[in-house]
Amino acid sequence: MSKKSFKLVASLTFILLFALKPDAFSKDYGNTMLKPFRVLVILGDQWQDPASYMVSITKSPNKYSGYFTRPEVPAQVDFHHLMVLLKSWSIPFDVIRLDQQFLDRYMFLNMDGSPMYGTIIWDVNKSDKLLHPDYSIIQEMVQDYGIGLIALSDRIFPSEIQSLLGLKYNGCWESNELMKVESKHFLTKDLNSTFSMDEISGQEYGLGTHLKREQVEVMDGTVTLVRQGDYPQATAKVFTSGGRTVWIGNDVNNMFYFQDIRTLLRRAITWTIGYNFYKTWENKLIMIMDDPGGAQNTYLEHWRYPELTENIIEKYLIKPLKEHNAILNINFVPAFVNDDKQILEPTWTQDFTDGFGVRQNYVSAKKGFDKGIKAGVFEVMCHGLSHMQPDLVSDPGWYGAPVDQEKSEVGWYREFGDTRRLKGIPAAEQLWRMKTAKRWITEQFGVIPLEFCAGGNGVSISYSSNTFKLAGQAGFGWSGWTQGYLGTDMAINEWNFMGTPDSPLFIAAPPNGHDFGITTNPETFKEIFNQYPESLFIGINEFIGYLHASNSGNWNNEEKRLTLNLNYDPHYCMHFKNHPSSWTFELSDWLEDKTGKVSVIKIDGKDIPSSTAPLKIAIPSGTGKHKLEIVFR
Ligand SMILES: [Zn+2]
Repeated sequence: MSKKSFKLVASLTFILLFALKPDAFSKDYGNTMLKPFRVLVILGDQWQDPASYMVSITKSPNKYSGYFTRPEVPAQVDFHHLMVLLKSWSIPFDVIRLDQQFLDRYMFLNMDGSPMYGTIIWDVNKSDKLLHPDYSIIQEMVQDYGIGLIALSDRIFPSEIQSLLGLKYNGCWESNELMKVESKHFLTKDLNSTFSMDEISGQEYGLGTHLKREQVEVMDGTVTLVRQGDYPQATAKVFTSGGRTVWIGNDVNNMFYFQDIRTLLRRAITWTIGYNFYKTWENKLIMIMDDPGGAQNTYLEHWRYPELTENIIEKYLIKPLKEHNAILNINFVPAFVNDDKQILEPTWTQDFTDGFGVRQNYVSAKKGFDKGIKAGVFEVMCHGLSHMQPDLVSDPGWYGAPVDQEKSEVGWYREFGDTRRLKGIPAAEQLWRMKTAKRWITEQFGVIPLEFCAGGNGVSISYSSNTFKLAGQAGFGWSGWTQGYLGTDMAINEWNFMGTPDSPLFIAAPPNGHDFGITTNPETFKEIFNQYPESLFIGINEFIGYLHASNSGNWNNEEKRLTLNLNYDPHYCMHFKNHPSSWTFELSDWLEDKTGKVSVIKIDGKDIPSSTAPLKIAIPSGTGKHKLEIVFR
């Protein structure tokens, strides 16, 4: 074929291919400066729940790594960690799983061919369960439509993904070299020059120094951001369409235990989309106390104590909390098991002397709790209905039993798993208890509880009667102390990164996280404020409000204006009804070069003064919709 005829064939082929595309918008959308504020997470087969609701830490596969003489290959945690981080930052996202879904262009595009997402987080593991994905679709989305791509660790085996990242992947092997920042770049700004793993007392993360290091070769046009010894572990690349790609390497099961990698991931979202709008949790603390209203203190020999009185609550809880502008989150029990009558009753009318000869005055306690709620220092949470087994009758039977026999068995004082008979509790019984507890607490305290905590962590774990799943179904927004996010979209079982910018720290109210401790050592409660002098003790409903905020963002090219819509659900985000909220708006360097500096910020139509990036944005109180407009010079 002559040079001339080759050219003709090539251009005819191009015209034909272009005409055959279902839309011809890609060039326009590729050049549109900004993409919508939404992330698409793409997985392989890591989501264990076939119904795509429960996000749990997978079980360890019981395999040998070759280092120890016992099986210690860790479970895959990348997907779980990603969900915790995105929820905690309140960055809006959807999830695609390639073990159940075929990759399709319209997963990324609206009907008119415009992109639905600003960036993709690529976390597809190698698995024979994948439904033969067409990876060239990802190339099209990045190269033609300008959608960003952030790929993780060893999830880059397809050649199409390597080509987008500008890398050649060679595999991963153990290395304990330190990761160091190599290039000054928007993505590495403010990161520590050497990365170190989180140290959280009592918790050992990962495999210590026995981590996998990825080995890649970097092609022309790709920038190395972070290096581990001789090998790049973070890279970035820009396409003429505006598409930007980032690869973050290191050990896939341990990478997010590095604070700098978590920050790098969040910044990669900013850099690939152009902007970001998120929440972080520096010095925020959620203090929790369990059990007021429960019955176990009146029946259980090793856990017996008088219910708190109005006087103790005022003097040792409300007073120091007020002095430190702090909130104590309390898991209340709204129903009491009356052994004499063998029935369930509302808690706060009880006033009697128990079988150990101790006065139990729940009426007085209620007065104290009401005062703290009115003063805004107590947050009301739900500790189930009775903190006791639903079945107290059948063998071996609790009703009427002596206090030093069946009554002294702790298994009776759990509600959502039958820890006395070692079995689960049926789903309908659990749901009734959750919903009734919510209704009773709402009536008793005038507040709808958003957190649900199963008494003594007694839970059912079979799929159909899974306590966490049911609590999400019952309309709670958070489970347990740190058992995680509950929503209509998913339930994340177990939280992470507590006490870092990526999650508040959860702590037990001194001395032992229960009203029991206050009855024996009331003076020790206020010591918490000396231990955390810099921290703000927030209510859990504030945290839940941010987790459930539904934000979106769109760019108006003609008006050089970015509009962010915040949507606070009146139920899950009820905290914002009477409280302002605060967010960070971050603009990437390349976008600021194009748009110029931010000139005007409007919130709900009103101008507010702007400062330098990243901007702290204060949204006035009120649930429902808020509009943030950012106008550039
Ligand atoms: Zn409890």
